[in-house]
Amino acid sequence: MRTLAISLVGVLFFAPKLCAQDYRVLAQNLTQGGFLKAQAKNCQSYKIKEVNAEKAQAGHCTQDGFFIAGFSRDAGPTAELTINYKNGELLSKSLPIKQREYQIDRIEGVPQKTVTPPESVLTRIRQENGQIYAARNHFSEQTFFLTDFIWPAKGRISGVYGSQRYFNGTPKRPHYGLDIAAPKGDPVVAPANGIVRLAHPDMYYSGGTMILDHGYGFTSTFIHLSKLTVKEGQMVKQGDKIAEIGASGRATGPHLDWRINWYNVRLDPAYWVVEGGHKN
Ligand SMILES: [Zn+2]
Repeated sequence: MRTLAISLVGVLFFAPKLCAQDYRVLAQNLTQGGFLKAQAKNCQSYKIKEVNAEKAQAGHCTQDGFFIAGFSRDAGPTAELTINYKNGELLSKSLPIKQREYQIDRIEGVPQKTVTPPESVLTRIRQENGQIYAARNHFSEQTFFLTDFIWPAKGRISGVYGSQRYFNGTPKRPHYGLDIAAPKGDPVVAPANGIVRLAHPDMYYSGGTMILDHGYGFTSTFIHLSKLTVKEGQMVKQGDKIAEIGASGRATGPHLDWRINWYNVRLDPAYWVVEGGHKN
């Protein structure tokens, strides 16, 4: 009884202070590959620690306190959101993360050298991975990531996020993109405003590759492109043509593979496009 009385006093004493700091959810998809978009007044930074992850992923809130927390493909059933306020206070909340079942894709007929790369290209692959890592981990203060996204290409969805892939019978990393099948040369447009952080005409695995920086660690990656029509450092607006669809790199036919990252956390682009959005 005595313990109860003391803890009640504790709750009454601390509760108003904690309630003063909260956040407002603007949109959310609490699932693997999903996100939480919110605003917390006087928010400085935030982080997400997935229950089964080794490390937390941290981000900065915008000047107006907006932030998006993303959840990885293999996020466990709960994730801890922590918000750091400018006055030093903290708010932690455990979020339930819905577990998904991913499909299995068996893809035959890709060039065998892209399934088991020869020794001679390993240095090249490592170097290209470094360029991709640098582009995705560049911090910039644009808030384009907060706007609604549109489809970057028009066509049939031929591959989805998360699927476990076998190339020519060999198990490989899961697929993190959304594939849109369309003829070679069809336009790829910017799904949201961004700055071109990487424009590479021919990477070993991904072929023609472009990374658009939407700000605060959020990037779009477009791969297998046949042509890039904008340059690194260039600012592009939503709907601007940035590239053409192709089948370069590890691909069996022309399609756009579009990925969204929050730094190195891979998110499902399907959750980012507004229904009925982009129509060419
Ligand atoms: Zn793909």
